[in-house]
Amino acid sequence: MTEIRSANHLFGEIRARMPAPERLFASLADGRRITYGDVLALSAGYAGALAALGVKPGDRVAVQVEKSIEALMLYLGAVRAGAIFLPLNNAYTPAEIEYFLADSEPALFVCDPAKAESLAPVAAGAGARLETLGTTGDGSLAAKAGAVQPSFIDIARGPDDLAAILYTSGTTGRSKGAMLSHENLASNARVLVKEWRFTGQDVLIHALPIFHTHGLFVATNVVLFAGASMHFRAKFDPAEALALMQDATTLMGVPTFYTRLLDQPGLTREQTARMRLFISGSAPLLAETHRAFEARTGHAILERYGMTETNMNTSNPYVGARIAGTVGFPLPGTQLRITEAETASPLAAGEIGMIEVRGPNVFKGYWRNPEKTAAEFRPDGFFITGDLGKIDDAGYVHILGRGKDLVITGGYNVYPKEIEGEIDALPGIEESAVIGLPHRDFGEGVTAIVVAAKGAAIREADILSAIEGRLAKFKLPKRVIVVPELPRNSMGKVQKNVLRETYRDLYSA
Ligand code: AMP
Repeated sequence: MTEIRSANHLFGEIRARMPAPERLFASLADGRRITYGDVLALSAGYAGALAALGVKPGDRVAVQVEKSIEALMLYLGAVRAGAIFLPLNNAYTPAEIEYFLADSEPALFVCDPAKAESLAPVAAGAGARLETLGTTGDGSLAAKAGAVQPSFIDIARGPDDLAAILYTSGTTGRSKGAMLSHENLASNARVLVKEWRFTGQDVLIHALPIFHTHGLFVATNVVLFAGASMHFRAKFDPAEALALMQDATTLMGVPTFYTRLLDQPGLTREQTARMRLFISGSAPLLAETHRAFEARTGHAILERYGMTETNMNTSNPYVGARIAGTVGFPLPGTQLRITEAETASPLAAGEIGMIEVRGPNVFKGYWRNPEKTAAEFRPDGFFITGDLGKIDDAGYVHILGRGKDLVITGGYNVYPKEIEGEIDALPGIEESAVIGLPHRDFGEGVTAIVVAAKGAAIREADILSAIEGRLAKFKLPKRVIVVPELPRNSMGKVQKNVLRETYRDLYSA
């Protein structure tokens, strides 16, 4: 019998590329092995359960659950049922969930069994039905999925229909729902499989959260589109990841994965000999980390750049130089330009400006927010990413930070990354974050928040005198504050908004 290709754009392609049903899709920490046949059956169960609950095509299914293979099958089930999958960060409080449910108006809200009591009134307030899903196959939705037929006729969905809404992490303002179509996700997975040379032989170490684009789409969809398999883990444990490398080929991580791996004495050439590719993204990888990792393992980490709204935009090359501190070249099909933010006029190579992108990867706009959508797209369809960057003579893209992190002091622009680079290069420094704080004379005062390397003692005056002759005077920090660690969100991004808030009165006190 020939398989009829599903008319569901994203799942149809996953199905068409799927290897034999007995092939492994995921091995779990508890020893369970999920085959591709299981993926079809489990996701059909969730799709059937959603349909039976009255979820219709285009309805939102909001989900705040711990990472589990069931949660991943719910994602696929929602896609197959024609619904819009809407994952929410586990860290969000009931008050925050209230905002997301009011904004997205889901037909169904799925939460952990342990949180059902506190979230029931929130779901009821938003008019959403509440179901639960636990990490061990428990929960009301899992029970319903297990009770329906393990087959499902996928709901037809076209390339431009929405597959997911992901709320932006909101480090520079209120979270907005990015609308992602079936083709946004499929086109990116197709390109990444090719660029990063994924095949059915690959085994990925998957230790990222699945409420974010990195773990949900980049990692999962690439594995599915390649017919590959993965070690699927609830969280990243460096010792465990290291052990898994004997039986894996690739790792996708945020930069903190790599700094934590470097702390492991067992990180050696021998231990990583089976691995073919280490990928980093979601936050800047320090050039120092890149170099240290290569020295220890012989592997040059491949850094790429993307965001919730655009999926992946650029990547360092698979073959060719992976340059530390850069995010490589635009992916095939994605156009990237640097503009003067105010006038939108294109800038020459080497000049710093706004990064804008256009392509099949770029989202459809912000959910129920046409003003914000209009404000962030140019008339010719380029999306204004909010990231500042430049393209060097060799074509590599460099990211210099979020536009909103730009410091304007005494009328001069200061790009935090430049100052951070100088400070990070000093002995005894682990890392730094440069921010602008309200200042009576200068508008903003350049301020460095610095973390000492293990065992090192650092002093404000020493840092200042060390960088004095290296930077123009207006770029020099007015103050250097030494802290034990920088605040980070769950994707490893430094939360400069938190730092700006903490030290808000530094120059006015
Ligand atoms: P998110 O939407 O949470 O994925 O955050 C996207 C933002 O993360 C981008 O707009 C960049 O500011 C940042 N980002 C992602 N990848 C990189 C990278 N490789 N280097 C520097 N910043 C990055």
